[in-house]
Amino acid sequence: MNNIFELDKTFVAGTYARFPVDLVKGAGAKYYSASGKEYIDMGTGIGVTAFGACDEIWKNAVISQLNKLSHVSNLYYTEPCVTLAKLLSEKTGLKKTFFANSGAEANECAIKVARKYYEDKTGKQGVIVTLKNSFHGRTLATLSATGQDKFHELFNPLVSGFVHATANDFSEILSLCNENPVCAIMIEIVQGEGGVNALDRSYVKAVYDYCQDNDILLIVDEVQTGNGRTGELYAYMGFDIKPDIVTTAKGLGGGLPIGACMLGEKVENVLGFGSHGSTFGGNPVASAGAISIIERLTPEFLNSVKEKGEYIKNELENASGVEGVSGLGLMLGVKTTKPVKEVLNYCLENGVLVLTAKDKLRLLPPLNIETSDLKKAISVIKNALKV
Ligand code: PLP
Repeated sequence: MNNIFELDKTFVAGTYARFPVDLVKGAGAKYYSASGKEYIDMGTGIGVTAFGACDEIWKNAVISQLNKLSHVSNLYYTEPCVTLAKLLSEKTGLKKTFFANSGAEANECAIKVARKYYEDKTGKQGVIVTLKNSFHGRTLATLSATGQDKFHELFNPLVSGFVHATANDFSEILSLCNENPVCAIMIEIVQGEGGVNALDRSYVKAVYDYCQDNDILLIVDEVQTGNGRTGELYAYMGFDIKPDIVTTAKGLGGGLPIGACMLGEKVENVLGFGSHGSTFGGNPVASAGAISIIERLTPEFLNSVKEKGEYIKNELENASGVEGVSGLGLMLGVKTTKPVKEVLNYCLENGVLVLTAKDKLRLLPPLNIETSDLKKAISVIKNALKV
């Protein structure tokens, strides 16, 4: 037995419905399979490879750090971790960062901070409001935070202390906050796994104002929306709010695992010695790569992300087989007339890697994708969508 599909089936836990594609190398927006087939990438490993596959600048930063120091424990100081935390603080105005290794772990940290903040303040246990249709991760606490029953069903008992409100219905926030000792409200500005739906601006502002007025922490999960994906450094920056906690991962690492939980003024000192930790968190190699990503997300570059997003929207909005385009920047969802699986399979057969989110086609191309690649990919996608 030496076929990769059979080996995977035999030896790797069967948690993924993989496509029959074995990728062996990539460069920028192109990937190549073992048989030499070329693909244009419109998925970036689910929002991870922000500057494309094996991006030179990121790779040089990673290799140069690897040649100096690959890992030490968090009992010692290392320069890349501190530099990255300082950079994030300068760019967001948030004060301190706890580094983890994934989005779920960044959210675990946010949940712990919110609980401890409330316990320190009141001596009581707080409840966190999250939104229906949200996705916050697959650890037990983040699964419990996630507002989709299909993720809950097989894993009871869930972690208690979460209640779920319907997105864009502020009255539900009010009633849940009246009925529960709420310590935090946690939102995604664009619900990614939930179908690439941006929250209403007026709703986000109302939630923010309510949190400010009632000393409730506002946590924004920017695991998927963050690091330039929506055309803002972090999506909340386009919504005229200042969250207390921002979590991110995916694109921050550019291809290596990293998660970050950024803490604002109210909560910067909530975590003390021993209250949280991670063996790999702030690893010098992952941090060096992340610095090289964040440094390039300048206002000019972010404008180019918005322009590319507009180009895709304009191309697809009135195309045959499209019932609507949602999302922000280069995080887009396309409601298809055909079953979305059919559209995806056509794209795959014709050399374009795309994603789905619920019943939508999800597009997360590299932020720096070249116009020629983008045009080619959009032309294939349009053919796939056509009815
Ligand atoms: N939060 C959001 C909004 C996500 O989209 C995801 C992953 O898709 C996560 C959390 C979990 O991130 P990870 O898979 O890195 O744990």
